[in-house]
This record gives sequence, structure tokens and C-alpha cells, in this order.
Amino acid sequence: MSRLVIVANRVPDPRERGATAGGLAVALKDALHRREALWFGWSGATVAEAAATPAEHRKGRVTYATLDLSEEDYRHYYLGFSNGALWPVLHYRLGIARFAREDWEGYRRVNAAFAAALAPMLRPDDTIWVHDFHLFLLAAELRKLGCRQKIGFFLHVPFPPRAVIMGMPKAEAILQALGAHDAIGVQTEDDAENLRAALVTGGEAEAATRVGAFAIGIDAAGFAALAARRFRTKEVDQLRDSLAGRALAIGVDRLDYTKGLPQRIAGFGKLLQRFPQHRSRVTFLQVAPVSRGDVATYRALRRELDEMVGRINGQYAEPDWGPIRYITRAVARPTLAGYMRLARIGLVTPLRDGMNLVAKEYVAAQDPEDPGVLVLSRFAGASGEMEGALLVNPLDPDDIAEALDVALTMPAEERLARWKPMDAAIRANNASAWCRRFLAALEGAEAAPEPARAG
Ligand code: ADP
Repeated sequence: MSRLVIVANRVPDPRERGATAGGLAVALKDALHRREALWFGWSGATVAEAAATPAEHRKGRVTYATLDLSEEDYRHYYLGFSNGALWPVLHYRLGIARFAREDWEGYRRVNAAFAAALAPMLRPDDTIWVHDFHLFLLAAELRKLGCRQKIGFFLHVPFPPRAVIMGMPKAEAILQALGAHDAIGVQTEDDAENLRAALVTGGEAEAATRVGAFAIGIDAAGFAALAARRFRTKEVDQLRDSLAGRALAIGVDRLDYTKGLPQRIAGFGKLLQRFPQHRSRVTFLQVAPVSRGDVATYRALRRELDEMVGRINGQYAEPDWGPIRYITRAVARPTLAGYMRLARIGLVTPLRDGMNLVAKEYVAAQDPEDPGVLVLSRFAGASGEMEGALLVNPLDPDDIAEALDVALTMPAEERLARWKPMDAAIRANNASAWCRRFLAALEGAEAAPEPARAG
């Protein structure tokens, strides 16, 4: 089998153990075990002046090659264009996106620098798989340098309707660069339709035919085993004891404005207001570690949440019960798995999400004899596979409150009947199945036509 080259903004540190591994490392684990691989990208370090040649570490059959970013590139490529412009636009939030030409220039510069550093490491029969919105331009840059290998792209986040993406400065340049790929994967059929329409508008009708939906999966069996193991530990005992027999609802998200956290907390407040029978009977634990704390929008969100949680707790708490427990520190993944198993309700209400792995993890973590209920945003990619979830509009706190009431009063048979098909779905479409499906599409793809602009 030919070598697999993974290119992603972040490269995991092979010297760190699995517990800290990001979602992509988990999703690719199988593929990386089966064949020789090179994983290329940013080290995560920012330095005054970045070297042009990557540092390499080897572990097993995988070589990890990383570049540092200069402070300027970090500011413009990462904070500016990737997080400040692309992230909101791709999540349908054109209005809060921030554009600056210097950010775009930084984005182009880093994509080109990554391509220039990667190209000399490539072998003629490598299969190259580029991940996510940080690296939209990378394949086009590789083509300019004469690379003829198969190059695939997977977008982990949503792709918005054509009118939204076309409102973004430089959208045409990005769509044109996408044309350099042999296969383009997105999470859902909606994303695929949106991307195809945008490509056609952007003059890349041929590339539109290479777009397909590949919903990403988790290691469902592994996560289920982890949750079952962790269920019998001191941390989970402590949480269980502290609930004193009350039901637990759990939310687990990065503290991000796409996750619908203010609306979710308002929804829980509405539950207590409109359904007083649940007061003192249910506790909501929200784990939301601070993310991108150096971006102003994220700091404002944190202040808003601090205030909301304080207000609702002040309004409804009893001397022996507080409605919301809110943690903005990181919690170890294995502990979270145990907490998820303990929770009667998984509350996952992003305003927009490419897939949302937490929804799948919550389902995987459940006790098969006595599973909990997933309350899920209809705007999470996962909603297409999660038939047994209670689907809500995450912008509507009353809708969330009503779903919470249904979940809290749902009989055990119904919980089981709803959970079973979801569990079967996430086990069937797990991380390795996702990898295999995408790579089969890429490696079976006809070579992309020689782009005229690649002269
Ligand atoms: P996103 O990629 O936007 O953060 P996902 O739900 O798709 O959202 O993936 C998040 C991943 O990060 C999941 O695997 C989840 O378990 C993990 N995660 C989220 N929040 C936390 C947290 N508070 N502590 C540890 N891991 C977390």
C-alpha cells in the first residue's frame, strides 16, 4: 500500500499519550496503523522566527513532521483568517466574521510555506489527505510546485449556503483552490449540496462532481469500554454521591459561540421556570473549557455565560441544591466518559456544527441496560444519524426546556428503544469506517485534470 500523508493544522505530539489526543488523531488511528504514514502540519508552537524546514519525530510507522509558526503568522493565519473569518462564515455567521487583508495574506503565506516544506518530502505514489479549513489553499500550492499525487480534502466543519460563502471576501480564490483536489469530503449531504453550488458559482463546476458526504465517526466500542471502566472510579462516585439521587444532565463543549451555550443555559432556566416539578430534582453539569481565549468574541461569550449561570443559580438554588454546575477548566477525557454514562440526559445544542462528536460519545457511553436520552440540535451534522434523539431548535430555549421535560419523564422502555438504533449507527459508521470510505473514494478517484492556472 502506498504511503498516507496526512496534512492538518495541528499535528499530535507522539510523545504525549492517547488521553490528550485530539479528535482527528482518534479518527485516523486505524488508518495510521495499517500503512506507513507521514503526518505534517503546525507544531502548536509560536516563535519569533520560524524555520522553513520541519522537525521530524518517528513513532512506529508514522513520521510526524512539524513547522512552528512565527508570531505574525500565528496572528494572521491562525487567529485572523482561520478563526476570525473562516470559522464564523463556515458556521453561517457572516455577520460576526472579521476580515483584514493582512490576515488573508498571512493565510496564503502559511499555506504556501507548508506546501513548500512538504513537497520535497513527498514520494510519487503517496496519497495525500488534507484536513480542514486552515489549509484550503495547500493542494493548489502543491500543484504549483508540480505535485501530481492524489490529493484529498476533508472539511470537518459545516459548509454554508452559497449566498453566505460568496459574501466572504476571497471566497472565489478559495473555491478555485479547492479545484486542485481529486476528492473533497464534507460531513453531510446538506454541506455537499452547499459546496457543490458554491463551486459551480465560483467557476469550478468540474470540482463540484468530486464532492461527497462522509460523516465522521468515533471509536464507539473504545469509548463505550472507557465509559464503563471509568464509571467505577472515585471521580464518578464523587459526582454520583453529590447528586443525592437527582437526575444529571450534562453538556460538554469547547467554550465556543457555535455551541449554543447561552441558549442552552436559558433553556435549562426555562425548564425550572415552566416545569417547577423538576426544581431540586435535576442538576445540569456543563463542562466548557476556555478555548481561543485570545479572541475577543470568546472573552465576551465567557462573560455572558458567567453572568447567566450566576443569575439562574441565584434564582433557583436551595441550600442543598444548585441547578447548574459550570466548569471552564479542562476535564480529562476518560473522566468525561464516566460522567456521560452517569448522566440521564446528554444536552448537545450547537447552533451549527459540522458533526459534533460529543453527541456520538454520549450515546456510546450509555449503560445498554439503562441508557440516557440525547437532546440534540437539529443543526448538528450528527442529527442525520441520531434518529432516537429528541431534536430541538437550539435558538429556542422553550424548545430545549420542553425536550428536557420529555427526557426527564421518559419511561425506561422508550429510552432503550430510542438509544438502540443510535448505538448501532455509531458502531457501524465508526472512525475506521469513515477513514476507509474516504480513502476508497480518493484512491479510486480519477486524477484531477491538470489545472490550467498551475503553470
Ligand atoms: P469541536 O471539534 O467543535 O470541539 P466536537 O464535539 O466535534 O466539537 O469534538 C470535540 C471533542 O473534544 C470531543 O471528542 C470531546 O469529547 C472533546 N471535548 C470537548 N469538550 C471537552 C472538555 N471539556 N474536556 C475534554 N474534552 C473535551
